[in-house]
Amino acid sequence: MKILFVTPELAPWSKAGGLGDATAALGKALAALGHEVRAVTPLYGSVPGREQMGTLVESLKVGVGGDPRRAACRVRTLPVSPGFETWFIEHEDFYGAREIYPAREDAGERAAFFGRAGLDACLATSWIPDVIHCHDWTAGLVPVLLNTTLKPTALGGARSVLSIHNLQHQGLQPRRLMAYLGLPEFLWHPQELECLGGVNFLKGGILHAGKVITVSPTYAKEILTPAFGYGLDEVVRRRAGALTGILNGVDRDEWDPATDKHIAKAFSAAKPAGKDECKTALLRELGLPTDDDLPLVGVISRLWDQKGLDLAAGVLPRFLREQKLRFVLLGSGDAALENEYRRLAADFPRHCAVRIGYDNGLSHRIEAGSDFFLMPSRFEPCGLNQMYSMAYGTLPIVRATGGLADTVTGWDGRDHGTGIVFEHADQGGIAWALERALALYARPQAFKALRKQAMKQDFSWAKAAEAHLAVYRSA
Ligand code: ADP
Repeated sequence: MKILFVTPELAPWSKAGGLGDATAALGKALAALGHEVRAVTPLYGSVPGREQMGTLVESLKVGVGGDPRRAACRVRTLPVSPGFETWFIEHEDFYGAREIYPAREDAGERAAFFGRAGLDACLATSWIPDVIHCHDWTAGLVPVLLNTTLKPTALGGARSVLSIHNLQHQGLQPRRLMAYLGLPEFLWHPQELECLGGVNFLKGGILHAGKVITVSPTYAKEILTPAFGYGLDEVVRRRAGALTGILNGVDRDEWDPATDKHIAKAFSAAKPAGKDECKTALLRELGLPTDDDLPLVGVISRLWDQKGLDLAAGVLPRFLREQKLRFVLLGSGDAALENEYRRLAADFPRHCAVRIGYDNGLSHRIEAGSDFFLMPSRFEPCGLNQMYSMAYGTLPIVRATGGLADTVTGWDGRDHGTGIVFEHADQGGIAWALERALALYARPQAFKALRKQAMKQDFSWAKAAEAHLAVYRSA
């Protein structure tokens, strides 16, 4: 199959969260199965390695309205793996800045432009995909274009699939985006793109894509309900028959303790000894004592409401005061929450370390060196870190929601399970789960047995790629 991705993130060139990892790994896995994959994505100012890029189209006229001087771009190419190529949309005005999602007045045009440019690049080079797989809100109007404005073109027969990586982010943009993309007026209707006086990109994608995927089976059920639907649950319910949940996988080239270059010592399920050394090295790196055997609980996360870390901040002081565990957090986001965690580290310098910022190497060392990994999310479409944690023998402590519920099996109190699972997104739920983790840690045989089961889980992208192909075929 010829498969075109339209995506705002593609690791390692651009990544704000799990989406960048997922598109890169899925593309590689599909290409490895013999399919031809192209990924259209903006050439952000922060993307390195321009000198290695080729040029697919020197000057592409893109079918958008507005200032004609802003309606052209260059399309650069870079091979990712055999069969998988990136098409970078180069447009200084739109993407020259370093951020992926800056708060700008023209955020709608910026999102609409690269999708439309990708489609025009297909037409210009006569590379006509069988399936166009759109990722998240920025690509949401691509299926709409295919069903309307571009129907009479060579792309009119291409099938579209939309992946929802997070329903919270919908892209509510001004009405002028309709004219900018040349969309027909009948789409300006509450049953179509209109939403709260604007154009809702994701809503358009959900309504117009041939098939809709979201990133875990449980999240696929949750988004049918008002509690998780962020106002679009009724729209999702309209497409329930076309909706499938497919778990993301783990990119083992990046996340494998047997080959990881970022960590102090390699280890695996068969040879787990190196993990202790990783813990000691991590504690040293963080300036924490290494002369006792307290469990180390890690967190790597965006600090947003979704992740429930505001709740955890209310629970942790008691555990740290009672010297029951050590805690490390790497993350950034909400300034007030960043400060709250900085304060926690200052209050408990022998038991808590906090690093505000983004640090890929340190994130690997936290996965390798921690005993537990905490994800108290209010909702979690899929989540990657709980899967990385299991691969590194670090037992995830997770709230039973979305992909967390689908990937972690709660400890049964004996020696079965792959982590700790709790139900309630509140301080009581988190405190209960931490107590349970301490109880497990106090039973070395059971702890070891769970660690082994966690490391044996298979979250391969090959499996996820097969599931995606089945959806492409059904589209
Ligand atoms: P989300 O996409 O909602 O942020 P995921 O768990 O799906 O959550 O993916 C998060 C990804 O981003 C993981 O690969 C995680 O390791 C990485 N990540 C998040 N914050 C940081 C950080 N501060 N430093 C390094 N990596 C981070």
